[in-house]
Amino acid sequence: MSVASESAANAGVPVVRPGGGGGARYELDEEALRRVLLRPGVQELPAVVVSVAGAYRGGKSFILDFFLRYLTAPPCSQQSGGWLGKEDEQLKGFHWRGGGERDTTGIHLWPEPIVTTTSNGEKVAVLLMDTQGTFDSDSTIGQNSTIFALSTLISSVQIYNLSGNIKEDDLQHLQLFTAYGKLACEGDEKAFQTLLFLVRDWASEYEHAYGYCGGDSLLSKRLQSKPNQNPELREVRDHIRSCFDSIKCFLMPHPGLAVEKQNFTGCLRELREEFRSALLELVPSLFDSERLTPKLINGERVRVQDLFDYFRKYVDIYNSDEAPEATTIYKATADACLLAASRAASSAYAACMEPRINGPRSLSRRVLADAHAAARASAEKVYAQKKKLGSQTDVQDRLQELIKELQASLSHYELSNDANVRKTVSLARKAYDTTVSN
Ligand code: GDP
Ligand code: MG
Repeated sequence: MSVASESAANAGVPVVRPGGGGGARYELDEEALRRVLLRPGVQELPAVVVSVAGAYRGGKSFILDFFLRYLTAPPCSQQSGGWLGKEDEQLKGFHWRGGGERDTTGIHLWPEPIVTTTSNGEKVAVLLMDTQGTFDSDSTIGQNSTIFALSTLISSVQIYNLSGNIKEDDLQHLQLFTAYGKLACEGDEKAFQTLLFLVRDWASEYEHAYGYCGGDSLLSKRLQSKPNQNPELREVRDHIRSCFDSIKCFLMPHPGLAVEKQNFTGCLRELREEFRSALLELVPSLFDSERLTPKLINGERVRVQDLFDYFRKYVDIYNSDEAPEATTIYKATADACLLAASRAASSAYAACMEPRINGPRSLSRRVLADAHAAARASAEKVYAQKKKLGSQTDVQDRLQELIKELQASLSHYELSNDANVRKTVSLARKAYDTTVSN
């Protein structure tokens, strides 16, 4: 895996924050989100969005900082395990802390998407998402579920960080957050991609071993649905299974007593050997080039810049006065999906037109009109090929909007072409005048 961007930043950027007034509302910091997502060289890449969600003080930000270490390490130390860091290196990145106070509130993104290459040589951008808000002691249920639901909708890998075990409550909460998942499935496709139960401080190693191996056996026990089971319990399990493409579980040992100390810096020396070995198993399994999971919505890859619309639409619906229905979320997804398709079509149009318009010679109106027709046809083809959600009417309406936008682009090209023509004529006239006067 190659890493193109070595991050100089030193904290997560809050992009979704609690709104004023103490209610369950959240606000989107659009400027901050733009700075993260709309970066040249990154915005067009497929996004891999890894989120860690769960109750506060569960070690979420702490583990994310190890993800960062891995992602920003050179390939040789990713392979050798050297990425874990030096024995006395303080753990930095997303802010983590001891004590009982909450730290992250809302959704924080790592400021620079990290560009890496998949095993088939394709570049993708990894976004790390730190969240806070699952059924904390002093938050309303509405507020908590909003953050969990938002991060599940936007991520391609949702890491559900749990303390000690997978409890019935944890499964019920998950069902609540993923209600939309059932609606969004078309054919064999599931609404969400990877769900990883990350159980921290696993204490029954003799029963289920640390790592994926014990995690799998614990998970099959917890997610088992049996014919004589209480129908509600069965429904929760069936629902969760039907929403995610892949569900895994990893059992993490306790990091050691040093975490309780006030001057704990998170350096390796202070962490138990078992905890380090677990990190060496877990982290590469999420990010090695064979296993990166680009974000898909309705089977289409989502590009980094398209995430902006998804954030906007989802925050809006969660801020509406009524608890969002699964159908509202579906509509928001469909709208953002259409915007992404039409943006891809506009890019295809520009890619055809720019070389013509920026060529050495200006074009006649007729040639320009022909170029426009060809570029428009290729844009419409891209739009048609993208898989879309939603009603046929919405799909057609968006297409008509797109055609209007392309027509407006043509007018713009015509003006700059005319200016070029005038410049060429005036240069030719000057050259002629000079020749005549000589
Ligand atoms: P967050 O609120 O979930 O983001 O939690 P933080 O990452 O800020 O960590 C809260 C505290 O838990 C810090 O003092 C960490 O040192 C400590 N911590 C980190 N990982 C673990 C773990 O696996 N188990 C335990 N018991 N504590 C941890
Ligand atoms: Mg945190």
